[in-house]
Amino acid sequence: MDQCVSPPKVVVSGLLSPAFPVVIFLVFLVLAAGLHYGLVQQDKRQIEANLANEARALTNHLEREFLVHAEAIRRMAKRLEANPGETEQEWRQDAQNHLEDFGVYQAIEWIDPDFIIRWVEPITDNEEVIGYNVAFNETRRQALELAKQSGTWNLSGIIDLRQGGKGMVIYAPVGAGPGNNGFMAGVFKMDVLARQLLTERVLESFRIEINEADELSYELNDSQTVSPDFSQSHPVNLPTLDWTLTLRPSVDWVENQYSDWPVMTFATFLLMGLLTSLTTLLVQLILKRRRDLLKTRQELDLEIEQRMAIQQDLVRLESTDTLTGLANRRFFMEDLSHTLNIADRQMRQVALVMLDLDRFQTLNDSLGHQVGDELLIKVSERLNRLSNERLLVAYSGGDEFMFCQQQVDNLDDIIHLLGQIKQCFAQPFDVQGQSHSITCTMGVAVYPQSGLDGDTLMRNADVALYRAKEQGRNTYQFYTEGMQEREVMRLELDKDLSQALANNEFVLFYQPQLNLDSGEIQSVEALIRWRHPRRGLLSPIEFIPLAEESGRITDIGRWVVMAACRQLAAWKGTPQERLRIAVNLSGRELDDENLVDHIREAMTLEGVPADRLEVELTEEIFIQNIEHNLNQLTRLHQLGIHLSIDDFGVGYSSLGYLRDFPVDLLKIDRSFITNVTERHDDAVITRAVINLAHNLGIQVVAEGVETEEQLSFLKNHRCNVAQGYLISRPIPVADLEQALASGILSVTSAVGSGL
Ligand code: C2E
Ligand code: CA
Ligand code: CA
Repeated sequence: MDQCVSPPKVVVSGLLSPAFPVVIFLVFLVLAAGLHYGLVQQDKRQIEANLANEARALTNHLEREFLVHAEAIRRMAKRLEANPGETEQEWRQDAQNHLEDFGVYQAIEWIDPDFIIRWVEPITDNEEVIGYNVAFNETRRQALELAKQSGTWNLSGIIDLRQGGKGMVIYAPVGAGPGNNGFMAGVFKMDVLARQLLTERVLESFRIEINEADELSYELNDSQTVSPDFSQSHPVNLPTLDWTLTLRPSVDWVENQYSDWPVMTFATFLLMGLLTSLTTLLVQLILKRRRDLLKTRQELDLEIEQRMAIQQDLVRLESTDTLTGLANRRFFMEDLSHTLNIADRQMRQVALVMLDLDRFQTLNDSLGHQVGDELLIKVSERLNRLSNERLLVAYSGGDEFMFCQQQVDNLDDIIHLLGQIKQCFAQPFDVQGQSHSITCTMGVAVYPQSGLDGDTLMRNADVALYRAKEQGRNTYQFYTEGMQEREVMRLELDKDLSQALANNEFVLFYQPQLNLDSGEIQSVEALIRWRHPRRGLLSPIEFIPLAEESGRITDIGRWVVMAACRQLAAWKGTPQERLRIAVNLSGRELDDENLVDHIREAMTLEGVPADRLEVELTEEIFIQNIEHNLNQLTRLHQLGIHLSIDDFGVGYSSLGYLRDFPVDLLKIDRSFITNVTERHDDAVITRAVINLAHNLGIQVVAEGVETEEQLSFLKNHRCNVAQGYLISRPIPVADLEQALASGILSVTSAVGSGL
C-alpha cells in the first residue's frame, strides 16, 4: 500500500498534516530559545568584561592613590632625615600642611626607631596612640625592621586601629640602615579612605572585598544586595601587600547591564513562529478546503455523469424493448407520426407491415417460455438486419413485429420488402440445440390509401394481418376497403359469440362417411353450425378461428362433445345405434388438461360406449407440444376412443409421429382428392398415403369426394372410407336419420341440404 504512494503525495500529506504548523512553531521556539541563550551568554560575557574593567580601574586607582600618599609620606620622612634637628613644633606644622593637602588621613605620626609612636598630628581623636608600639606582632615587627634596613616604604595591611575601626598605615623609614630615625607614618581609616577613593557610582553598584593572602580582610559596602552570578577579582600591585580586590556587582547594576536584545529577540522569534504557523495553518485550511471542494466537484461530476448515463439508459429503455433490443411500440408510433408528417409534405407513400409468427403461441406453450424468448431474440436479430435509415423494425409484444418503410415509390418496393422479410424465415432457427422452422403472416397498410394517421394505419394493418391468418398463414395481405367491414363484423361476431352458448345457438350437422368395403354408412362427422339470430346459419370457418383466438373454443368444444354423446345416447335402440360420431378438436382444446376427463364424464353420463366416439385432430397437434399431446391422446385412446388425423398431407413433411401416436384413421385432405382424377401428382400422393397408412395398420378416409370418378379412384386404390358432397353434405340430424332410413346414403347419389 505504502509503495503506491508517490513521494510528492507523502510530502503534500505531510505539509497538510495538522502537526506541520506545530512543528514550525516548535522550530521557531527552539531558535528563539537558542538565540536568547546565546545573547544572554554574550551579555554575561559583556558583564564579566565590564566588571573586570571596573575591578581593574578600581585597582589602578587604588594603586595610584596609595603611591601618591606613600610618596607624600616619604617626602615628609626625607625632610625629617634631612633636618634631624627638626622640632616637634616644626614637624607638626609640616604634618598639618600635609593633612590639609590630602584631607584623607586619620593621622600623621612619627614613630621612633624602637617602633614607639612619639608624635601625632592631630592630637584630637588620636591621643591614646602616643607611646604605642606599632610592632605589635612579630610579622609587623619584621616587616618594619626590613623597611628600616632597606629604606623602602611599607604598608601595614588592614589592621584594627588603636583609634577604633579598620585602617591602614603607610610607613616611610626616616633614613635607612643604622642611620635610621624611625618612621614617618600616615594612618588611614578604611571607610574614609574608601569614600575618598571610590566614586558614588562605584559605591552604589558594587560590594568591594579586599582579600589579604586569600583571606577576606575588609568588605566595603557589605549591605549591598549583590548578584550571586558575577564577581571579578584583580590583584593589587602595591609593595609589601598581597591584596586582591574582588568586585561583586549589585543586582541593580547587573540588571542595568543586561540588554533587552535577548528578550526582544526571543519574543520576536516567538511571534514570528506564531505568525508563520498561523499562516501555515491558514494555507493548510485553504488548501484542504480547495481539496475538499475539488473532491466534491469530482463527486458531483461523477454523479452528473452517472445521472446522464441513467437518463440515456432510460431514454433508450423507453424506446427499446428489453427482450429483443428492437424499438418498442411506443417509439414506433412516435416515429411513425413523424414519418407521416414528412411523407405528407413530400407527397410520398409509407408502408406499415404487421407481422405475426405462425403458431408461436403453441410453440411457446409446448417448449416453455425460455425457448420462446430465445426464438424471439433470434427472429429479432434476423429482422433487425433489414433495418436501415428507410426501414424501422420494431417489436410490439407477444409474437408481433412491425415494420415502417419510408419513401415507398410503388407497390414493388413493398413486395420487395415482404420478400426480404419472408427470406428471414427461410432457414430454421437454432434454439437450445434444436432447430425450429417457423413461418410468419403479415398484414400491410399503406399511407395514405389505408389510413391517414398512425393509429388507423396500425388498425388496418392488423385487419389485413387477420385476413392473412384466415387464409391459412405463411402469407401476407394488403389492407383493402372491404376488410374494414369484415373487421367490424368480426368484432361483432366475437361479441355475439360470448352469448351464443348461453343462448343455445349452436347446432351439430352431420356428414356421413361411407365405408367403401361394406358400402354402408359407418360413421358421421359432427360439424358445428351457429344459428346466429341475425346472420342466420354460420359456417365454423367464420367463428371457430375467432373462438380459438378468444379461448371460447374450450367451452364450445365441451358443448360439441356433450351434444355428440347426447346424440349417440338418443340413437340407442334405433337403426343409427351402430353409427360412430367423429368430433373435431382444435389444438387449443387439447391444451385443456381436463379434456379427457370431460369426454369420459360425458360418455358415462350419457351411457355411451367409447368406441362410438371418434376424435379428429389436425396434423400440427402431432408435431407440437408432443409430450403433452401424446399423453392426452394416449389417455383418449385408452378410453377406447378412435383417433383420426384430419387434413392429412398439408403442412408437415415429418411422418415420424405416425409411429409414436395411437392413430386409428387418417383423413387425406380434400385438396388432394379434388384433383385426384385430373392431376397425376395428386393421384400419386393419394395412392402413397393409402399405402403408407395401410402398412402402418391405419384406415384411410378420403374427404371432399364430390364425383363418381373420385370415388371409383378411391375404391380402386382400396381407400377405406369416403366422405364428401357426393355422399352427402353435412346435414341436420333429422335429415340424416331420414336419409339413412330411406337408404339413399348407401348408394352413391348425392344428398344435399344445408351447408
Ligand atoms: P374439416 O374438419 O376439414 O371439415 C370438413 C369440412 O369440409 C366441412 O366444412 C365440410 O362441410 C366440408 N366438406 C365436406 N365434404 C365436402 C365436399 O365434398 N366438398 C367441399 N368443398 N367441402 C366439403 P365445415 O363444416 O364448414 O367445417 C369447416 C371446418 O371447421 C372443419 O374442417 C373443422 O376444421 C372446423 N369445425 C367444424 N366443426 C367443428 C367443431 O365442432 N369443432 C372444431 N374445433 N372445429 C370444427
Ligand atoms: Ca374434420
Ligand atoms: Ca378435413
